[in-house]
Amino acid sequence: MKKIGILGSTGSIGTQTLEVVRSYCNDLQVTALAAGNNIELLEQQIREFRPKLVAVWKEENAAKLRRAVADLDVTVVSGMDGLLEVAVQKDSDILVTAIVGMIGIQPTIAAIQAGKDIALANKETLVTAGHIIMPLAKKHQVSILPVDSEHSAIFQCLNGERSKQIDKILLTASGGPFRGKDSAFLETVTVKDALKHPNWSMGRKITIDSASMVNKGLEVMEAKWLFDVEIDDVEVVIQPQSVIHSMIQFVDGAVMAQLGTPDMKLPIQYALFYPERRFLGGERLDFGALGALHFMKPDMEVFRGLAMAYQVGRDGGSLPTVFNAANEYAVAKFLDEKIRFLEIYEMIEACIEAHKKIENPTVEEILATEQWTYEYIESRWKFEHSC
Ligand code: NDP
Repeated sequence: MKKIGILGSTGSIGTQTLEVVRSYCNDLQVTALAAGNNIELLEQQIREFRPKLVAVWKEENAAKLRRAVADLDVTVVSGMDGLLEVAVQKDSDILVTAIVGMIGIQPTIAAIQAGKDIALANKETLVTAGHIIMPLAKKHQVSILPVDSEHSAIFQCLNGERSKQIDKILLTASGGPFRGKDSAFLETVTVKDALKHPNWSMGRKITIDSASMVNKGLEVMEAKWLFDVEIDDVEVVIQPQSVIHSMIQFVDGAVMAQLGTPDMKLPIQYALFYPERRFLGGERLDFGALGALHFMKPDMEVFRGLAMAYQVGRDGGSLPTVFNAANEYAVAKFLDEKIRFLEIYEMIEACIEAHKKIENPTVEEILATEQWTYEYIESRWKFEHSC
């Protein structure tokens, strides 16, 4: 029986992780859950999966939840301390980091220090603190198992191969809802337009990141850390159907790819059962019906968030944190209809330009850089209410 903790159990990845647990309830057991505000769903999850420990962000919600589940043997905690308790809960073997944003850094570090394997969906943690997370995982001999579908694809292609023989990683992207559009078009798009992803159903933040291709930029940096390659050894290839989840080109020119219908339960399940493969129901690829697969180069001039991600990935230090924090802030404002879509890029650019890079930032410096970024945006954009 593998025992799992989940940070972000009420979100898109969190609920799909619980679907996998439901299918394999004789092999997987939930020991701890953490969520933000959705305490109604969290209560249902507690009643179904019976974790011993649960965290919610706000103490007032924790108090409500405590009353609601008073008939059960579960401890409800709150705040960052609560997330940290869930991360290190003594019974769990693996922590699924399905929380959104840089808030995942400290719990991920705590879980690694406590010897837990990590099924990593929360890419923001690796983008900003990969230089801390990867050596720490090595030191504590824990595995970082990718949940992101592209990185899982690469991980699957690497099975039985030596990572030193990678020539380049071909990271596929659907191109999102605005593929093929120009900047004039992007100037007018609404939140509703940007939330219409052609192939995947995901949380709101990552769906906007996919529309801006910032998500692909974050994934390029995530791949660098996970697979120990240089940023420029990761090439983004647009594959609009999202059938090829990513590829590796080896030094002899051979290209290996992982294909499948778009279903996040596959990478989640692969991470939870690695190195085993388990049955997963659902549609299979029908190549006859598919006919053709299409590929193209990304347009880095229009989708300049991707070009910026390559640049901060090359420059390193605290710049990926600035890129990520500015994007998190800007996406929240865009979702709130306070800024235009293209202002997401403008905010990121302004912050990168103003920032004085710190080489090899500590966790404290990463968090201070995040704060600096938010304050810088607030001082320049002067919103009525700050994030
Ligand atoms: P969602 O927005 O759907 O879910 C986020 C989860 O985090 C929710 O459970 C939310 O709780 C919880 N959360 C947010 N803030 C806090 C907090 N302060 N304390 C505790 N819990 C919190 O996001 P996704 O599932 O889409 O994405 C999660 C991560 O996985 C992201 O890093 C994303 O980039 C990555 N990812 C997602 C993919 C997808 O298909 N969705 C694919 C690949 C990677 P609540 O809702 O209760 O407020």
